[in-house]
Amino acid sequence: MVRITTDIAEAVECLNREEVIGLPTETVYGLAGNIFSEKAIRNIFSIKQRPLFNPLIVHIGKAEAVEQIAQNIPLPAYQLIAAFWPGPLTLVLERRAGIPDLVTGGKDTVAVRMPNHPMALALLEALNYPLAAPSANPFGSISPTNARHVADYFPEQLELVLDGGPCERGVESTIVGFPDGVPTLYRHGSIPAEEIEAELGQLAYLTRKEHAPDAPGMLSRHYAPATRIVMSTEVAQTVAENTGKRIGLMLFSKPLQEANVAHQEILSPKEDLKEAAMHLYAAMHRLDQMGLDLIIAERFPDAGLGRTINDRLERAGK
Ligand code: AMP
Ligand code: MG
Repeated sequence: MVRITTDIAEAVECLNREEVIGLPTETVYGLAGNIFSEKAIRNIFSIKQRPLFNPLIVHIGKAEAVEQIAQNIPLPAYQLIAAFWPGPLTLVLERRAGIPDLVTGGKDTVAVRMPNHPMALALLEALNYPLAAPSANPFGSISPTNARHVADYFPEQLELVLDGGPCERGVESTIVGFPDGVPTLYRHGSIPAEEIEAELGQLAYLTRKEHAPDAPGMLSRHYAPATRIVMSTEVAQTVAENTGKRIGLMLFSKPLQEANVAHQEILSPKEDLKEAAMHLYAAMHRLDQMGLDLIIAERFPDAGLGRTINDRLERAGK
C-alpha cells in the first residue's frame, strides 16, 4: 500500500534503495527515480506504461549541475537558466556520454530542469544523483496535481508519495530546445512562450507532427480524462446541442446562468490565467469522476498561459 508522507528522509531512503517515489514539483507531481539506476528507470516506464523510446526529464537541485548532464550548452540556454531556474522551464540540450540511454530514449539530447518546489529542492540537495521524473500518471491520462491523485493512480505500485501540497503551477513545464542552434519551443507550458520570447526574441515553433516521435507530451491525444470532452467558444450553444446528456462544464471565470447541467467547474472567478492553470487538472479529475456523458470546456483566450491551457484541452479532447 502506498504511503503519503512529508518525511524527506524516508524519500531519500527509498530512492537510495533504487525505488520509485511520487515527487511534488511546482508543475505537476512526478514519478521519480535515480537517473543512474537502471532498475528505477525501468520501473518508472513500467509503472507509467510509457513506451521506452520516450525520454524523461532530468531534475537537478542546482543550476550548475546542468554541466554534468549536458555539454556544448548554447549561450541562449544560459540566458534562460539565469532568467527562469529554478522554475518550470525544461531545456533540451546535447547530452553528456554518462547519461543513460534509457533516460534519453537513446537520443543525443537530454531534457533537464531545476524545479522550484521547496520539498523537491530539499530532496535533490540530500541526494548525490539527479532524478528522472515524468508526470505521475498512467501514460496519456490526466496529470496529477496533488499527492492524493498520485496515490489513487498507483495504490499498489508505489511505496511512497511525498506530499508537497497542491501544485502551484498545475500544468507541465515549457520545453525549449536548440536544434541547429535555433531556440525552439517544443511544448507550451507553465511559462508563457511570450516570456521566453522577451528574453530571446522570436522562437521557432515545432509543429506537433514534427516533434511527435520524440515527445509524449506532444502526442495528439494526451492529458485526457476517460469522459468525452469537447472544447467550445459558445458554451451555451454546445450545451443546447447536447440536451438529454449528463453534462459537466469547465469554464474560465463565470458560471453559465440557468444551465441544465450536472456540474460546473469555474477555474478562476477573478479571471486570472495563472489561477486557472493551477486548477485545470484537479477540475478535470473531479469532472471525470462524476459519471458524466460529456465535459464541455470553454476555449481560453489564445495568448500567454491561455495557449497552454487550450493546448492541453485540445489534446484531452482528441
Ligand atoms: P512528462 O515529464 O511526462 O511531462 O514528459 C516529458 C517531456 O519532455 C516529454 O514530452 C518528452 O518527450 C520531452 N523530452 C524529454 N527528453 C527530450 C529530448 N531529449 N528531446 C525532446 N523532448 C524531450
Ligand atoms: Mg506527462
